[in-house]
Amino acid sequence: MRALFFTGHGGFDALQYGDRPDLTAGPGEILVRVRAAAMNRLDLFVLAGIPGVPIALPHVPGADGAGVVEALGAGVRGPAPGTRVVIQPGLSCGACEFCRAGQQSLCISFRILGEHLSGTFAELVAVPAANVYPAPAGLTDEQAAAFPLAALTAWRLLVTRAALRPGETVLIHGIGGGVSTFALQIAKLCGASRVIVTSSSEEKRKRALEMGADDALDSKDDVGKRVRELTKKRGVDVVVDSVGAATWKHSLVAAAKGGRIVTPGATSGPNPEEEIRHIFWKQLSILGSTMGTDAEFAALLAAVSAGRIVPVVDSVVPLAEGRKAYERMQSSQGLGKIVVRVSA
Ligand code: ZN
Repeated sequence: MRALFFTGHGGFDALQYGDRPDLTAGPGEILVRVRAAAMNRLDLFVLAGIPGVPIALPHVPGADGAGVVEALGAGVRGPAPGTRVVIQPGLSCGACEFCRAGQQSLCISFRILGEHLSGTFAELVAVPAANVYPAPAGLTDEQAAAFPLAALTAWRLLVTRAALRPGETVLIHGIGGGVSTFALQIAKLCGASRVIVTSSSEEKRKRALEMGADDALDSKDDVGKRVRELTKKRGVDVVVDSVGAATWKHSLVAAAKGGRIVTPGATSGPNPEEEIRHIFWKQLSILGSTMGTDAEFAALLAAVSAGRIVPVVDSVVPLAEGRKAYERMQSSQGLGKIVVRVSA
């Protein structure tokens, strides 16, 4: 199979495009012929090497993918070969206390496709049958590959963790990445009365307003202060902060009394300045969130299939030029998902 892979950790020069041995479907697995895959920031970390997370080399990265069923492993009844499918990239054991409680992304052995296992930047990928879902009929392959990881992350953090309610107000830092772009759509879907986004790019602020954001702030400004001005000193009910070090102090200022700050990651670094007095005085809730559960993915899939969430594709690059997807992700210039076209 043709694949993007690396034989040692490093920079983008470590990426190779070429042939890897074909995969087969093991017991309980489905072999998917990948048509389109999507880039996530995780792929940058996996290439560079995550301390304490050894992986077998050579390694094929890529978490998100859409394609058609190629073959079913022993004990798997369907979907039939040829069915268009999308892959849920969160892999859970199905047996631990969290899995038994339906909290798959809290699984004690939670893994992500392409992080430890051979990923979607290849013509074939083998995944547990429970992670394969029918692709929404109205989506292109590129759109189908673009939503699973980022939209599931945005769904859980807003719908489940923040429990966003109609009429509430939301701040989303750093519009442009997959999670923040889906968070904007999902916040509106939940009935948020006002969604404020930030970006250092005037072009991205303009696009976000076209996508339904109510206000778009320059992230180079004092965002916490600007949000308080915009909301007549009240602040917002929910802050989505996936940026971390660069934005956390603004999140604490921008949150209203009793507000919730949700973090699914920290792209600018994990150790922010933190004025704890904001947390106790305003009685804030700080909520972590990682990907999502099977039930959340099913709910998300229904919303995407109904056209209520539309995956935004930033750009599409062929697998042979996969390095360009990494460079685009590193540059943070895009808005929406960077998609890799794997096969016709
Ligand atoms: Zn488990």
